[in-house]
Amino acid sequence: MLLIGSMNWATTRLKGNFLCPHCGKNSNFRLRVSRPFLTLYFIPVIPIGGLTEFVECRGCKNSFEPIVLSSLMMPTGSNTLVTETGDGVEASFEEDLLKAIALIMVEDGQVTEDEIRLARRLYENIVEEPLSRELLGKTCSAVRAQQLRTLSFLSTAAKRRNHEEKQLLIQAMFGISSADGGITAGRMASLIQCQQILGIHEDEFKRAIESTEQWLV
Ligand SMILES: [Zn+2]
Repeated sequence: MLLIGSMNWATTRLKGNFLCPHCGKNSNFRLRVSRPFLTLYFIPVIPIGGLTEFVECRGCKNSFEPIVLSSLMMPTGSNTLVTETGDGVEASFEEDLLKAIALIMVEDGQVTEDEIRLARRLYENIVEEPLSRELLGKTCSAVRAQQLRTLSFLSTAAKRRNHEEKQLLIQAMFGISSADGGITAGRMASLIQCQQILGIHEDEFKRAIESTEQWLV
């Protein structure tokens, strides 16, 4: 019997110091490049996706998007790099929204049809443009390959989004969380952490949750 599987093959491209959004202080990082491979007997044989870059903090082990290394977030005097091409461009709101949705979807390790249906409906309601299954699927694979965590992502996204956009992000995340029926206590606790990272007031959070319900029917 052939044992076929898949794995992410990651290599380090760059090392240095950065201001870690999670640790809140200067920490060592590794800029890593990961690519999914099809494996045969646990040996990577065929690359099955594109390259994904992510920044890993050596202190807290959290992963962040490469944008975290931009000059705005680097402590002065420790600039060892960064000559990003293209990737360093600020993400649009649509990209951040899609990523936030994908992160919630992959959080529990399995993506359900209900989540896919709801994700597309939420996105279309907010952006007023259709979202293809393909792009949604690609984004889910990308955030997994990046080993991106929801809170790490939000800590960088919060810096480039305005207040109204942040409210829409939390609304979408809440909506996806409720796709499989109710929201568990653990999920709710992490949504509240998201709300705090985004700097959204409790009343606004409640209002956002209420207005999400109209999209769920
Ligand atoms: Zn850290």
